[in-house]
Amino acid sequence: MEKYLLYINGEFRESGDKQTFSAVNPATEEVIAEVSKATVEDARDAADAARNAFDSGVWSDLPREERSRILKQVVDKINENAKRLTELEVMDSGSTIKKAGEDVFLSAKSLNYYSKMAAADLNEDVEGLSKAGVSKNIIRREPIGVCALITPWNFPLKMAIWKLGPALAAGNTVILKPAMETSVTACELARLINETDMPKGVVNIITGAGSVIGTELVKNLKVDKVGFTGSTEVGKIIMKNAADNLKKLTLECGGKSANIVLDDADIDMSVDGAIYAGFYHQGQCCEGGTRLLVSEKIYDEFVDKLKNKIRKMTIGDPMDKKTDVGPVINKKQFDSVMNYIKIGKEEGAEILTGGNKAGDKGYYIEPTVFINAGNNMRISQEEIFGPVVTLIKFKDDDDAVKIANDSIYGLGGAVWSGNDERALKVANRLRTGTVWINEYHLLSDRAPFGGYKQSGIGREFGLDGLKEYTEAKHIHIDEIKDRTKKFWYGTVVPKD
Ligand code: NAP
Ligand code: MG
Repeated sequence: MEKYLLYINGEFRESGDKQTFSAVNPATEEVIAEVSKATVEDARDAADAARNAFDSGVWSDLPREERSRILKQVVDKINENAKRLTELEVMDSGSTIKKAGEDVFLSAKSLNYYSKMAAADLNEDVEGLSKAGVSKNIIRREPIGVCALITPWNFPLKMAIWKLGPALAAGNTVILKPAMETSVTACELARLINETDMPKGVVNIITGAGSVIGTELVKNLKVDKVGFTGSTEVGKIIMKNAADNLKKLTLECGGKSANIVLDDADIDMSVDGAIYAGFYHQGQCCEGGTRLLVSEKIYDEFVDKLKNKIRKMTIGDPMDKKTDVGPVINKKQFDSVMNYIKIGKEEGAEILTGGNKAGDKGYYIEPTVFINAGNNMRISQEEIFGPVVTLIKFKDDDDAVKIANDSIYGLGGAVWSGNDERALKVANRLRTGTVWINEYHLLSDRAPFGGYKQSGIGREFGLDGLKEYTEAKHIHIDEIKDRTKKFWYGTVVPKD
């Protein structure tokens, strides 16, 4: 059986106490690999390695083009190994092969974007004030330093790349800590990076418990920034633990996004869209359309078609290209989702379809839709993170906006309508980081992604995402032409 090691300072090694944990396939409940379980000491070593690499300038002082070239080598390695990475992702996470294949493709694409951004000159010259009238003002975008990157289990490779790309493009050094549930592709990535010209210590990848090594990285004074994707609950803990040296934070947390179907929407398309929004990756998507808001004017037809379509979905082996619905990640998540289904029934909502375990092996749950639900119910307010959608009826556009915004979260959401102008008016009023119109889930390398409210702090992707990994420095150069100049203590005095 494959055994994965920690990757610290360009070397592969076992954890300090030689402990490992098992990588489990959620479709079969079988162990697929053993993974090293890092100790607090190992996490400190990784932070030291990243600190030394940053301070030595082996990465941050490289010419931009050189950093770009090395990142492109990583892109090429991912593409060359796409099949293997996809299959491992399926086995480790229960993702359908269709989704995993796309994740690997999009990971390479996103890193390719940031490899190009690495070569871009983000520094600017701006106008400034000077008594002599001659000053030059430079804004430099410098790396922050050492970044700890902590990722969840739903899009393992993609989440790792979303963070590695901008952090490395900006010149930082990093320690990546993937979720224990899905560490395998991050470990494979360490092997691929080790085959490139990446200098030692720039990328460190350690596996193990978030409560142990994650906490150490978040508190470690050698770490300057934490980039985190995961639950809002852990995001809050990280924010508190990161306070001692005032670490910079990017937090991508939970969501309960509203997927709004207006009365003029194309019903067949929006039914397909609602299934895609709610059940993509078994609903284990932070931006998923888990609150489905449907106009009362089209409600009956919509609900009927939705039920029929969902019942035709193929639940089964995620390695099979025909499979639409794979297992949820593990037993704990399975129990939690089944408990929410129980809560929904107790709250008085009614099951339109689904609601049961599927198959006898693996953590499969039928795609489930609740109807006759209120937005105040727990199944409408809490993130279930499984194949459960709550359908809520609304009267008019104002009502839809009001319900959509009545949430502690604000990550994604969509509007389905035959009229772009009307949809845009609704989209503009939603307090959320991304709104799709007649689409769902699709992100752009160039457009920011992130949350309002308790869905997070900061943005990933595009220039905004890159800037999250930089410090802005202003350098003011005053030309010494006039040696008699007076310094500017201020000249504007309010009149009596
Ligand atoms: P999680 O439990 O919050 O864990 C996320 C990561 O944080 C894991 O690597 C975890 O380690 C680590 N961690 C746990 N406790 C920690 C601590 N005290 N200090 C530092 N790190 C710690 O989330 P998850 O269950 O993996 O993922 C599901 C959640 O992620 C959902 O809430 C979902 O909405 C959110 N999510 C958000 C986005 C987004 O972009 N907004 C994207 C995907 C997922 P271990 O689990 O390995 O111990
Ligand atoms: Mg696994």
